[in-house]
Amino acid sequence: YSGKKTGQAVIDSMMNMKVKDFQSIPVVVSENISVYDAICQMFLEDVGTLFVVDKNAYLTGVLSRKDLLRTSIGNQDLHNIPVHIIMTRMPNIAFCLKTDGLIQAANKLIERQIDALPVVIEHPDGYEVIGRLTKTNITRAFLSLADNHDL
Ligand code: ADP
Repeated sequence: YSGKKTGQAVIDSMMNMKVKDFQSIPVVVSENISVYDAICQMFLEDVGTLFVVDKNAYLTGVLSRKDLLRTSIGNQDLHNIPVHIIMTRMPNIAFCLKTDGLIQAANKLIERQIDALPVVIEHPDGYEVIGRLTKTNITRAFLSLADNHDL
């Protein structure tokens, strides 16, 4: 066996990919931190999307780079604007479960034209954030289909 995949094997492994096999660590911030501090967190943690949680650690919002930029180009005091004012909030957040297929999650990213999905666990009273699935994770999955082949 050469270690190379046939066309059908590539399709099979693609359809069997799960979010949990490719997800990253989520970066979460509290609803009351300032836009200024969220920008600092985004640089410190080197992510493009921050997930916002309430005091029970349940998902309430998403902050993208452009959300923060949009707020920053005004002449406002970024220290005095809490992120919950500017974030995209529940129930308008697209998310996925770790057991979801990667193709299904990739489709959500494209349909909603977003860069990242929170990976959540559903509880009776909210969604706990346990991961982050980004376009980079999808690219890594794509590349893994080519393993054993010359790049
Ligand atoms: P950017 O705004 O930096 O281009 P995105 O394309 O990810 O990054 O975000 C576009 C908009 O969609 C932003 O307003 C952001 O808050 C929102 N958004 C990002 N991720 C999600 C998500 N998982 N569910 C719903 N809205 C999201």
